[in-house]
Amino acid sequence: PPKKASNSQKDPVGVYCRVRPLGAEDEECCIEVISNTTIQLHAPDGLKANRNGEFKETQYSFKKVFGIKTTQGELFEDVAKPLVEDIIHCKNGLLFTYGVTGSGKTHTMTGSPGQGGLLPRSLDMIFNSIGPYQAKRYVFKPDDKNGMEVQNQVDALLDRQKRDSQTTVPKTPTTRRIDPEFADMISPEEACKADGVDEDSSYIGCFAVPPQSKILREDQNHNMYVAGCTEVEVKSTEEAFEVFWRGQKKRRIANTQLNRESSRSHSVFIIKLAQAPLDADGDNVLQDKNQVNVSQLCLVDLAGSERTSRTRAEGSRLREAGNINQSLMTLRTCIEVLRENQMCGTNKMVPYRDSKVTHLFKNYFDGEGKVRMVVCVNPKADDYEETLLVMRFAEMTQ
Ligand code: ADP
Ligand code: MG
Repeated sequence: PPKKASNSQKDPVGVYCRVRPLGAEDEECCIEVISNTTIQLHAPDGLKANRNGEFKETQYSFKKVFGIKTTQGELFEDVAKPLVEDIIHCKNGLLFTYGVTGSGKTHTMTGSPGQGGLLPRSLDMIFNSIGPYQAKRYVFKPDDKNGMEVQNQVDALLDRQKRDSQTTVPKTPTTRRIDPEFADMISPEEACKADGVDEDSSYIGCFAVPPQSKILREDQNHNMYVAGCTEVEVKSTEEAFEVFWRGQKKRRIANTQLNRESSRSHSVFIIKLAQAPLDADGDNVLQDKNQVNVSQLCLVDLAGSERTSRTRAEGSRLREAGNINQSLMTLRTCIEVLRENQMCGTNKMVPYRDSKVTHLFKNYFDGEGKVRMVVCVNPKADDYEETLLVMRFAEMTQ
């Protein structure tokens, strides 16, 4: 079977923190950036007076803290670029944004026109790195019954032989300057108007995971995939981004139909890169699926971490009540156990089967591939209690 993308456990889950600017200048602030690895939470005066002793001034440490002036490009360099280099070198990566609704998760992952986030920048770097090596004629397609299959149609394959011989592909991929207007290239509406696209079909770009369904399957290489999801083969950053926007549109429709806020669902975008050797002539990709190496980078904009309004309305005191999004709870547990396994050399079972989103990322919890998380925070005092819960979780993964 094809070699599985692998990674040692030497590089443990990396947890970063990004503090967004306040929405208005006169808003009360509860976060102070102490250093480039530490932040301090200050309980708002009102809370301190009411609940004496419950809220302590505590500092929290991260692999790195990004303050309000951090640009999208700077964040990409530190957080996502290493993962993009990994996928090009056949290693898997998983990147989450985590935080309360309004804390900047989507801004960080997707960004906005002129302010492209980690996702468009990753796509851009990947295509600029592999561009010259993309094959002309073959595609790597998932098949429900037989796992992966090489098909004689399209082209997103990187010539791995060339890369291995290192004559042509540099070890560290070079990228052209990222166009700051990148995210403006195509609107969701434009993307969905594109000819020949069935808006009802599922896209790998984005999907809502139904709670009860056997939608997750395992292929012959023990990689999980989403049954019924179409993998769209893309040849450029522009095409990849079009797929992403269609997924976003689908997500909005799904949320409206289910009468659910988008802040309660996860957005998952998976970039797969198939690499295969060329035949003796160097013209065609070898049609031997055993020689194809697939690596993937998963970019996940998680549901808001806040407890539901019901919990708040009932004025329950600060605790990890049951009303937090269940799959987020599972994700947290999985990351904590994974982290413990990595740091202590233990081999504890990670309960990834307990939710769809963690099950999909089973391989990562088995210790294959880097996992990175950007904890996003809004420094406004109104969010203090929820932010405190976010920090307590982040602390447990340190
Ligand atoms: P979330 O996805 O966590 O709910 P968003 O990313 O939608 O939050 O951010 C909420 C608002 O704050 C948006 O209008 C977004 O543009 C803005 N915002 C978030 N982070 C930043 C940032 N670092 N700099 C400037 N604006 C930001
Ligand atoms: Mg969002």
